[in-house]
Amino acid sequence: IYSLKGKRVLVAGHTGMAGSSIVRRLAREDCEVLTISYPDLDMTRQKETEDYLAAARPDAMFVAAAKVGGIYANSTYPADFLYQNLAIETNLIHAAKSVGVGKLLFLGSSCIYPREAPQPMKEEALLTGPLEPTNEGYAIAKIAGIKMCDYYRRQYGCDFISAMPTNLYGPGDRYDLQNGHVVAAMIMKVHAAKTNGDATMTIWGSGTPKREFLFTEDLADGLVFLMKNYSGIGHVNLGTGRETTIRELAEAVAKVAGWSGSFTYDRSKPDGMMRKVMDVSRMTQLGWAAGTGLEAGLKVAYDWYVSNRDKPL
Ligand code: GDP
Repeated sequence: IYSLKGKRVLVAGHTGMAGSSIVRRLAREDCEVLTISYPDLDMTRQKETEDYLAAARPDAMFVAAAKVGGIYANSTYPADFLYQNLAIETNLIHAAKSVGVGKLLFLGSSCIYPREAPQPMKEEALLTGPLEPTNEGYAIAKIAGIKMCDYYRRQYGCDFISAMPTNLYGPGDRYDLQNGHVVAAMIMKVHAAKTNGDATMTIWGSGTPKREFLFTEDLADGLVFLMKNYSGIGHVNLGTGRETTIRELAEAVAKVAGWSGSFTYDRSKPDGMMRKVMDVSRMTQLGWAAGTGLEAGLKVAYDWYVSNRDKPL
């Protein structure tokens, strides 16, 4: 439906894991990629953002700019997650309308769904119940972003869409034990255990929660697919449809790293949602599926971490 050929395409948030993978994926499209980041542009500032977009005049935009973090960061800094994400998305989406951006894709997250949503979670589960408290601030902001895309389509005729990726991992992830997501934390901990010759490694919670993990290069491919092929009200889930327990994830990381120790469980840390997996049938019907298996993706992520962990991004 939408051709990227010859277009000026802005990737907002290109320094993050999702944004950087979109930039890599767009190199295979015949388009001009625009990027900007803090401190050249602070997207939480409305006027700065409007001035930038008025000058840059992109034809299309990926909104991958966000404050993100794992279960600890989300539950500790809910005000920052709500405020910064709301500011970034309202500034970008509204300014995109003002300067006539032809197509915009907003990235949400699977945590927008209610805590008690039937699993696997369908797109229709949005706003049917209370959210998971550990990431409510982030989720409320992302729900507002989805609604903005829908309302700007309805009221102003903007071709703005949104995609809800599941838990992501890969090169460029935030490798930070305290504030990062679970895959990055597992990679760091397993690598440290291997390097130090430790026989055990500690996992937060019970190890039994189930998650779905999407490799960031698959994410980028799915997003470019949606940009070209999807237009309409309502968001689209982006995932693998496969679920893995936290324990299985730890075992897979250990295998990839070549470490054969055992795990202990720190039950003073939260489990969060016990099961979080998305129904990806809408994406499948559109004609797309994730291509990378968990072990293959973890191998790339692990190798990236080992060779880049001491370098600034
Ligand atoms: P969530 O999917 O939004 O809950 O966020 P995370 O990516 O942080 O995943 C959290 C899940 O992994 C929870 O069930 C945690 O208990 C579990 N987990 C186990 N060990 C770790 C760890 O070292 N760091 C993080 N972030 N989560 C861990």
